[in-house]
Amino acid sequence: MKLKIALQKSGRLYEDSLKLLKECGIELTNGVNKLRNEAFNFPLEVLFLRDDDIPQYVADSVADIGIVGENVVNEKNKSVSVIEKLGFGKCRLSIAVPRTMDYQNIKSLNGKKIATSYPLLVSQFLETNKITAEIHEISGSVEIAPGIGLADVICDLVSSGSTLFLNGLKEADVILHSEAVLISNGELSREKNDLLNKLLFRVQSVKRSKKHKYILLNAPNDKLDVICKLLPGMKSPTVVPLAEEGWSSVHSVVNEDDFWNIIEQLMAHGAQGILVSPIEKMIV
Ligand code: ATP
Ligand code: MG
Repeated sequence: MKLKIALQKSGRLYEDSLKLLKECGIELTNGVNKLRNEAFNFPLEVLFLRDDDIPQYVADSVADIGIVGENVVNEKNKSVSVIEKLGFGKCRLSIAVPRTMDYQNIKSLNGKKIATSYPLLVSQFLETNKITAEIHEISGSVEIAPGIGLADVICDLVSSGSTLFLNGLKEADVILHSEAVLISNGELSREKNDLLNKLLFRVQSVKRSKKHKYILLNAPNDKLDVICKLLPGMKSPTVVPLAEEGWSSVHSVVNEDDFWNIIEQLMAHGAQGILVSPIEKMIV
């Protein structure tokens, strides 16, 4: 019995999805350019699909779980559960308008024609904001729609904004912030659910390790108290005496979010020889 996971066949999520499996210690057997593949060291079968189809395949139990953007999950609106955010494939679903348009606020969309590949999310957004506009659904190259006279404005995925810029558009309002997520069919058997939990445990360890750094430093013994308070680590820091009298080596783990702030405080309290290295897995 194997857990079946659906991944994007090619495109923006492909590399990072395979990288995540690899970081979870899961190796695929024969090449990657196939529609179907198996892991040889975890009971996992991989189906490579177009991202638009992944929610449906998971809802229909053709795959048990899948990795896909939240934007696709919300637009397709199938009966799947989001199990975990994965931290890659980050983008926004945004309204973009011609740079020359005088866009004041959402109300400026009244009476406009909006080209998008996300008709459901756009219509929900319009309804919530009580805007009446016409939605024109197209499946690709949405950004050229205003230029060729197909629509007045668009709603599309944006990450850097360079595609919008090249097409004379500006981002006007964000409808949704999205990233890749792990989705699951709600009706997994007990055995498959156990496998999912095993996979999830690995995914969470990998995610946690990316948010933390391992730190080593030398501290004068009379400053150990304050330095240890700055570095609580997973339980408490390791403190080992140096060969030189009056000094200790302190080892701990710091969160990336307040990393620089903590480094500055450590230095202000006399820490020296600070070494920082990445952590590969973090099990708490
Ligand atoms: P497929 O052939 O599988 O249908 P696609 O062309 O629909 O692929 P991609 O462009 O590969 O999809 O994007 C896949 C996902 O990557 C998007 O649904 C979104 O969640 C995420 N993504 C991240 N940044 C961007 C971006 N700048 N533009 C588009 N998608 C992005
Ligand atoms: Mg697609």
